[in-house]
Amino acid sequence: MRTNGSPLFERYDAATDIGRRLYVHDRVTSTMDMAWALAEAGAPHGDAVMAFAQTAGRGRFGRAWLSEPGGSLMLSVILRPSLDIASRLSMIGAVAVRRAVADLAGISCTFKWPNDVFAGGRKLCGILIDGRVDTGGGAVVVMGIGLNLNMRPADYPEIAAIATSVLVESGRRAAPEEAAVAVLRALDAVHAETGAEVLGEWRGALHMLGKRVSVSRRGGALDGIAEDVAADGALLLRDDVGALHRLESGEVTLRA
Ligand code: ATP
Repeated sequence: MRTNGSPLFERYDAATDIGRRLYVHDRVTSTMDMAWALAEAGAPHGDAVMAFAQTAGRGRFGRAWLSEPGGSLMLSVILRPSLDIASRLSMIGAVAVRRAVADLAGISCTFKWPNDVFAGGRKLCGILIDGRVDTGGGAVVVMGIGLNLNMRPADYPEIAAIATSVLVESGRRAAPEEAAVAVLRALDAVHAETGAEVLGEWRGALHMLGKRVSVSRRGGALDGIAEDVAADGALLLRDDVGALHRLESGEVTLRA
């Protein structure tokens, strides 16, 4: 089996803008690598890449993303957003995955700030937003979506305690291609919605608001109450002396 070869086939969906063209690969190092190669060769907004198997999947900060051939959705979408939309892409991705998973399997997901989709208190999907500036000075972003479909995380010690899948949560199997189409159609719809609509849905499913959390980020950890989120998704954290902090990234742990 060749890694990073030409796609097995290309799928066209005339009903959508995002996902109009989907390149379906057998095995790649990472769909992010394939999508960046296409983006840098000038691929238009909305082109997407999926693979049935991935040998070097990654999440934020270069962390490994674990997948199972045929048991996971690995999807990367090329976006050329306006600056306004670029600032809320991770919310757009999360809301789209939540809707797609509800349609595919009737699962009701929650979100962990800033970029994870949870089900049953465990991580179902990770979303990676990787942005650059293109040759014309516009933003180009590859959105990576790793969604556990038919795998059983209990079989993988690294994620057994923290992860779940569509199969575990619903008893239903979903083919990667079917899941890709559902996510792309949902992304197309959510992308066209206003910032207020997206924020409202995302905020409504964010599971930590009002709770005591610790956020680790560059420069150390910050403890306090996760009070709210700003319009661009930044976390507003009230510390123990009453000061409000605006956090754009970091890792959140719930405190007792
Ligand atoms: P965290 O989940 O701790 O907030 P993160 O958002 O930075 O981390 P991601 O970029 O979404 O993480 O993904 C990398 C991390 O996700 C890994 O360090 C591992 O803990 C976890 N992980 C890896 N593969 C999977 C998977 N298939 N399902 C759920 N979690 C996974």
